[in-house]
Amino acid sequence: MTRPVSAPAIAATRGRYCPCCDRHLREGFLPGPDGRPDASCPRCRSLERHRFFAILLGALRPQIGRVGTLLDIAPAPQARARLLELEPDHYVRFDLRPGRGVDLRGDITAMPLRDRCVDLLVCYHVLEHIVDDRAAIAEIGRVLAADGLGILQVPWRPGTVTDEDPDAPEEERIRRFGLADHVRYYGDDVEDRLVAGGLDVTRVTPADYVGAEANAWMGLGEDQSVWLVRPASSPGGASRWTIPTTSPLTTTLDSLVAELAKVRAERQDARRALRQASAPR
Ligand SMILES: [Zn+2]
Repeated sequence: MTRPVSAPAIAATRGRYCPCCDRHLREGFLPGPDGRPDASCPRCRSLERHRFFAILLGALRPQIGRVGTLLDIAPAPQARARLLELEPDHYVRFDLRPGRGVDLRGDITAMPLRDRCVDLLVCYHVLEHIVDDRAAIAEIGRVLAADGLGILQVPWRPGTVTDEDPDAPEEERIRRFGLADHVRYYGDDVEDRLVAGGLDVTRVTPADYVGAEANAWMGLGEDQSVWLVRPASSPGGASRWTIPTTSPLTTTLDSLVAELAKVRAERQDARRALRQASAPR
């Protein structure tokens, strides 16, 4: 008997695919840092946000085109392989502190870079650490080229107002903002802050690029949000970077993944039936 396959069928099977390290993982993902199941790639340690970034970058790639300068702020090693595929002329990994894999040191609120020199900027989970995030956002707007693109993510609770207090004691910051070195947890006004910094903003989620089956297969998370930003003065704004929600490609990928789940479930049922038939009576 074949079990009915309901969406997302793939979630119930163990096999997963990591788009960061391009590996099929028979045993799936490991628990995440907070213990949530099905989160971390056992090969490259990618989490949901890194994997959605890899998919997003792939989807945007035709529009991004040639990249002169790529500015990767607080670079995540999990994103490196996909970023290198863009073959930027200059790949600048920027961080406050020196370390392996940092090309340029500096403060995001006063970056040692010329105006309008960055074609692609990546800034993931940085702004929640910065006391003067408005200055950091203004800097992002200043260094982005007129037709440049920024890809930003911050911890965000939809339906709330930003909760912030740089002076809160450490224990309280952990409780309210998630980590001791966070100074806020963003709410819906995050977009107002980006706009006030001179940016045009479009929020995207995995559902804008893949269906439920493909999402479960790659473990992109359902609550990921990413902001695509461009200088407000640029023609077309940030919305030109989105793609149609249900393109033929996303529909095809989803049905392929669902079919994969179905074949797996049937194979498991066949194995079970074989074991039962061959068991001593
Ligand atoms: Zn991986």
